[in-house]
Amino acid sequence: MLINHSYSLELPLMDQADVLVIGAGPAGICAAVAAARQGSRVVLVERSGAVGGNLTLGHIRTCMGIVGPGTMKEEIGELLGTGGACVPHNVEEAKFALTDWLHKNGVIVYLQTPMAEVWTEGNRVRGVVVSTPQGLARVEAVCTVDATGDGMAAALAGAPFQVGRPKDGLMQPASLLFTIGGVESALVCTHESDDTPVGGQSYLALCEQANREGVLPEDVTIVRLYGGERPGERMVNATQLCRVDGTKPSDIARSDWELRRQIHQVVEFLREKIPGFERCYLLDGADFPGFRETRRIEGEYILTEEDILEGKTFPDVLVHRANFCFDTHNPAGGGQAEDLETARSTRPYDIPYRCFLPLKVENLLVAGRCISGTHKAHSSYRVMNICMAMGEAAGIAAALSVRRSISPRRLDVREIQAALIAGGVALFD
Ligand SMILES: Cc1cc2nc3c(=O)[nH]c(=O)nc-3n(C[C@H](O)[C@H](O)[C@H](O)COP(=O)(O)OP(=O)(O)OC[C@H]3O[C@@H](n4cnc5c(N)ncnc54)[C@H](O)[C@@H]3O)c2cc1C
Repeated sequence: MLINHSYSLELPLMDQADVLVIGAGPAGICAAVAAARQGSRVVLVERSGAVGGNLTLGHIRTCMGIVGPGTMKEEIGELLGTGGACVPHNVEEAKFALTDWLHKNGVIVYLQTPMAEVWTEGNRVRGVVVSTPQGLARVEAVCTVDATGDGMAAALAGAPFQVGRPKDGLMQPASLLFTIGGVESALVCTHESDDTPVGGQSYLALCEQANREGVLPEDVTIVRLYGGERPGERMVNATQLCRVDGTKPSDIARSDWELRRQIHQVVEFLREKIPGFERCYLLDGADFPGFRETRRIEGEYILTEEDILEGKTFPDVLVHRANFCFDTHNPAGGGQAEDLETARSTRPYDIPYRCFLPLKVENLLVAGRCISGTHKAHSSYRVMNICMAMGEAAGIAAALSVRRSISPRRLDVREIQAALIAGGVALFD
């Protein structure tokens, strides 16, 4: 079927932005506020009914990853009431705290307004088409930041991208996080390295046995239990579905159905097999399945696992001393893809500006988990604190490109660095 895009010119103009940010996850909200603080008129469009992305609606309650001092990660930590520590935040409180922050910083926010198409002239992004409760409309922008997590705007605009691991293109599995209440045990187990005896047996061995016996789902070999916000609660990161693509509508629905079925299986396992969990119950869960990995947009530079192992610094650094383990959930089965030693071999590394600049497309930046990097490098930089720092840097770059009336690719990176440093961000040792 031939789709005629020419109709887009007839669409009503919903808004005009200096900087348009697509997606209000950890990267998008920081990009929006950072650009607004540079004096840009900023429009933020979000497909969901609340801001925060995985940090709120995805029920990812612990912001992980390290970055150098002075980034917006610290400000968000204050807003979430965690002080930036890796402790659970309240996702309901976070929805208000973050939306209040956006509005108070002058960002124009549109919710339930998914971007449906990118509006280009040649290789230049001029704005996007959004689907609103009043029908399709367009938003015009001088510079756009793709913070969709999926790199959707960049891909639609024609930027090349990579998907999955090199050998077979398989991506990390999808999971749906949930919280249980009614726990009468001190047990937590956040990782394969975190075994604890329960009733004289290894907790991890009990999980593996339950998987072999079909008590737990096929790809679930570990039920990760994190401390909750209140006594008697645990956040559960256990459900898992491999071989799904989070950009395919049919896979999204299948994942949602299967992972919600798995929640009941996991709760049943805990009740029957784990002392102190006999009376646990499902309290709440994510609004949608979490896809750890989808498109990785190809940029001027592709960050690699070698860079991370080496702790590489770059002259065009925008995020300094980023660090998190290689957290590759097995794309083809249960558990992790890497042994513990390999996973923990990362060293604090820089993320250069070139990773935010998609090839072949002008007036567009990417930020968050869809930046330019390899499958394994992505498993480290995808965590939320690092995404926030990326968003902040991309937002400043977008605002400066508007001020200079040039595409972000032509900006002098030293100007972006100077603005970050002026805001208190450490970029060099
Ligand atoms: C199961 C799971 C567990 C995880 N655990 C942790 C953890 O414990 N700690 C941690 O720090 N990280 C964790 N992560 C990783 C982390 O949550 C993500 O990598 C991170 O949220 C990425 O941030 P982002 O801003 O790039 O994308 P997202 O958080 O995905 O935000 C993207 C936003 O863009 C919006 N959007 C997408 N498409 C459109 C569109 N077309 N139009 C408008 N809006 C759009 C989305 O609705 C969303 O709000 C986990 C991820 C998953 C999936």
